[in-house]
Amino acid sequence: MHFSRFNPVRFAHLPTPFEPLPGLTEQLTREDGSGPTLWIKRDDCTGLAGGGNKTRKLEYLLGDALAQDADTLVTQGAIQSNHVRQTAAAAAIFGLKCEIILEARTGSNAVDYNRSGNVLLDELLGARHRTVAGGSDMNAELARVAAEVSAAGGRPYVIPGGGSNAIGALGYAECALELVTQANEMGLEIDRIITATGSAGTHAGLVAGLAVMGADIPVLGIGVRAPKDVQEANVFRLAQETAGLFGHAERVTRDMVVADCDYVGAGYGLIDRAVIDALKTIARSDAILLDPVYTGKAMKGLIALAKAGKFDGETVVFLHTGGAQGLFAYQSEMEGQL
Ligand SMILES: *Cc1c(COP(=O)(O)O)cnc(C)c1O
Repeated sequence: MHFSRFNPVRFAHLPTPFEPLPGLTEQLTREDGSGPTLWIKRDDCTGLAGGGNKTRKLEYLLGDALAQDADTLVTQGAIQSNHVRQTAAAAAIFGLKCEIILEARTGSNAVDYNRSGNVLLDELLGARHRTVAGGSDMNAELARVAAEVSAAGGRPYVIPGGGSNAIGALGYAECALELVTQANEMGLEIDRIITATGSAGTHAGLVAGLAVMGADIPVLGIGVRAPKDVQEANVFRLAQETAGLFGHAERVTRDMVVADCDYVGAGYGLIDRAVIDALKTIARSDAILLDPVYTGKAMKGLIALAKAGKFDGETVVFLHTGGAQGLFAYQSEMEGQL
């Protein structure tokens, strides 16, 4: 797969580490020795002001923005968006302005949720942000702010929520190639990849990359927001579009897209006891810091499914998509439960 054809700009720390998870593997091994062997792909270590999965997407999106001679990045996300923080960081590197629209999606009034974590970092990185009510039409908001930038003589480049269009998803097609290459070098056979799936670019990019290269490794997305039918339809559409950039849309088939959306709990960004337990489990077994909104929910799902015997005998790779900066926004909510 010829990624340089798409002119990404390079600032991520790649390849990210690919490591075993001995502590959690031991915890999920039953008395008769059955259970999965767990590995972790450390995309929390992509290096862009705290890193995370949006960094790979932004290499391609920034390449496109610079080719269009943009001077202002415009994007949106939930108040504690990791995508917004990484976009603000990419803008800082290239001397671009950054206009952010934050959606009060969770309805939280907590001071730490609204001021700490990623919001603090957005401000530190020099982005300008405004907040709109939960449930707002965020694409309309993006168009409105882009028009404002243009009216003031600027050259806006709009990045959709999560950086999830086909250009951004190329970053995860590339991650699929990187991961398979690492496994090949180690002589390791991967049976399954598990990732959190939200705005769909990560999941879709992985599926597209694996399908185009013919790797035949199933990907399980654990949903954090939408119901299963909606999530799978979004991922499928974007995976086909991404594979289409290589001229191979037909290699992505509907059966390759699987999302389990049974672990969302009360809603996007809302945590429960099982999420906190998942955060604690892997912090204490392997010193890995997950986040409350995405990876903590994915790990809640992984642990429940592993305990139910779903991955017995498999080598399972958990994609750590980052987000630990958001932990500080949930301090008051986790108080007394650690
Ligand atoms: C955005 C995000 C995800 C979800 O990735 P999508 O490409 O939006 O599906 C997962 N984990 C973290 C930490 C994120 O910030």
